[in-house]
Amino acid sequence: MESTARPEVPDLEVLVHRFSWCFCGSETHSADHIKLRTFKRPVESGKAVALSYGMGDFDRQKHIFGHVDGFESEIVRLEFGGEWEIENLASTFVALSKKHGAVWLDQLSIP
Ligand SMILES: [Zn+2]
Repeated sequence: MESTARPEVPDLEVLVHRFSWCFCGSETHSADHIKLRTFKRPVESGKAVALSYGMGDFDRQKHIFGHVDGFESEIVRLEFGGEWEIENLASTFVALSKKHGAVWLDQLSIP
């Protein structure tokens, strides 16, 4: 008799992030900053999109994108090379979060 039950495999979870525009009105942050929520998701296709190792190749700098959701003083800084347009990146993070639900980003997801 054949069994259709799959063997028990523990779900592997990864840290993913959801970026959204923040309208907290903080004077510490620019008018168009983003907020970040971090949570765990199982590794399954369709549960998040991965942006891996796209920091850039030259003139890397840390850029402030915003803060952790609910914690204005927990600044979100990400490092990218000079070839990236940072304002476009913030918009891209928000758009990807809306489209895929969450983003896996090596700089934030690998502790
Ligand atoms: Zn804010």
